[in-house]
Amino acid sequence: MLEKKHLEFREKIRAFCLEKIAPVAATLDEEQRFLEENMVPLTEMGLFACLVPEKYGGREIDTLSYIISVEEASRVCGSTGITLAAHNSLGCYPIMKFGTEEQKQKYLPRAANGELLAFGLSEPDAGSDAGGTRTVALKKDDHWLMNGSKCWITSATRAFATLATAKTTDDPNDKAITCFIVEKDWDGYAVGKKENKLGLRGSDTAFLHFDDLKIPFENQLGEIGEGFKLALITLDGGRLSIGAMALGLGQGALDIALKYAAERHQFGKPIVANQGIQHRLADMATEIQAARLMIYEACLMKDAGVPFSRQSAMCKLYASEVATRTAASALTVLGAIGYLTGPYEAERIWRDVKLCEIGEGTSEIQRLVIARDMLKTMKTV
Ligand SMILES: Cc1cc2nc3c(=O)[nH]c(=O)nc-3n(C[C@H](O)[C@H](O)[C@H](O)COP(=O)(O)OP(=O)(O)OC[C@H]3O[C@@H](n4cnc5c(N)ncnc54)[C@H](O)[C@@H]3O)c2cc1C
Repeated sequence: MLEKKHLEFREKIRAFCLEKIAPVAATLDEEQRFLEENMVPLTEMGLFACLVPEKYGGREIDTLSYIISVEEASRVCGSTGITLAAHNSLGCYPIMKFGTEEQKQKYLPRAANGELLAFGLSEPDAGSDAGGTRTVALKKDDHWLMNGSKCWITSATRAFATLATAKTTDDPNDKAITCFIVEKDWDGYAVGKKENKLGLRGSDTAFLHFDDLKIPFENQLGEIGEGFKLALITLDGGRLSIGAMALGLGQGALDIALKYAAERHQFGKPIVANQGIQHRLADMATEIQAARLMIYEACLMKDAGVPFSRQSAMCKLYASEVATRTAASALTVLGAIGYLTGPYEAERIWRDVKLCEIGEGTSEIQRLVIARDMLKTMKTV
């Protein structure tokens, strides 16, 4: 059972999401439009500042509260959920964890104030195999010179800065990667066209291209050659937020299915009077609750400083597969009307949720992470 402070926080975020986010969610999807009108309200609610310490202008809430925010936002709008998740977990967190004091002072207050950060790890030839990065940053005079491309970057069109990984040698046998903070306004930083996606259409996804991008030495994030480790640690936290997105989307699908099943009459009675429909709803609710407990426990582990890599991979794997099943089940409960765009939002959720099985490592990669951790520790629990 959640503590009172988390229950009250959830109520506050839920009320905000219903008032501000839910009314525009369908339009953002239909028009494939970024959530511009909600940037100020989201900022005022502190949702871009969740993890950032107060001394840099952040809210510094605990991981569980942050995860509840992503869950509740995704319950009404997956696009808002992924925008929050990418900014907080992949943008702010690595700067907090690995940044110098100057980097924290320079970037975190802006980020906490609603200027978005992005995370550039994926490349056309380095997806699941993120260590296969081809982007290169070489030392030249008083700076690094970066060349390469990043793909599928969340909020790439909006972010004022991106945390981008690159090799720091052109030796093909040297796989070491380093992370850099690069700014949108610098010469040589170009944003590709916004991708036309199946779901999460209110979130911008695009390529980033770096062409002789000059990076000051002070914008190296973490140690040289430690960028892959930085990315893996970042993704441990990020996977909790993708799990939370899945949880929210699945919960949203269940909310819609339950209400519809109680209202829709066939054969002279509500369809929910049929045991077959009741069983389906019960399975949806049970799996979602199991995913919720897994994720919440992993949040507590993270804040307690306990290793949680395996748990975060399990959370993302389980929650995203549960949410995909739940979204499909909701469509079944709704019948033909669920297949339409508009009257009910189950169709949008069904399209949005697939990303949770792909982003920040596919389900196959999560299974590898879990199995490798068991083999390394020879501990099954
Ligand atoms: C909407 C969206 C937003 C994203 N946002 C970001 C972002 O902000 N930053 C960022 O860096 N990236 C982002 N990504 C990229 C995402 O992290 C990658 O798409 C993901 O890691 C998978 O890489 P890939 O698409 O290249 O698939 P591939 O690696 O080409 O995989 C293709 C298929 O092969 C399977 N596969 C690959 N290797 C193995 C293996 N060893 N064993 C079994 N199966 C395997 C995969 O599971 C998958 O099913 C985003 C993607 C999307 C769609």
